[in-house]
Amino acid sequence: MTAFISAGHNPKGIKVDPGAVANGLREADLTVEFRNLVVAELLKRKVKVITDKDDERLGDYLKRIKTGSGSVVLEFHFDAALSPTATGTTSLYGNDADRLDIAFSKELAEATSKILKIKNRGALSESQSHRGSLGLMRKEGIVSLLEVCFISNPSDIKAYNENKKELAVKIAEIVEHYENLI
Ligand SMILES: [Zn+2]
Repeated sequence: MTAFISAGHNPKGIKVDPGAVANGLREADLTVEFRNLVVAELLKRKVKVITDKDDERLGDYLKRIKTGSGSVVLEFHFDAALSPTATGTTSLYGNDADRLDIAFSKELAEATSKILKIKNRGALSESQSHRGSLGLMRKEGIVSLLEVCFISNPSDIKAYNENKKELAVKIAEIVEHYENLI
């Protein structure tokens, strides 16, 4: 069984996709940093992990990976809004999600909200989130996308920076738990 852990957007490569940019930060750098922290924790726990590469477009990663019913698939993003006070964490699951996808998403948002001490905006389906259809959600396995916090909110980013190691440990623990369920 394998965990597929990816960073939304790519900071390097021929076609750089920085994601949201705010407060002098690029979303792609934050997602890579957080993915690396979570992957390091999973490897300590002897969980087999496949990740995207920093110069790889998301579409190419999704084409490359072969997930199965025994996979946990998780991608990190940071949210952005015009208002610098928009705050909180959100997780997303597919419109075709089953009980485990939804439970996994809920646990991710709850843990992030608790550790960063920011609002829990909830676990939403693709259609509730108005983000359109997400290719990630068409992958087999237990799948979720976590918008950790708002890159556009300085206090969200401060909370992230102060607690990212603790959050990475907790997220790894949740991933390992769902890996063991399937
Ligand atoms: Zn993103």
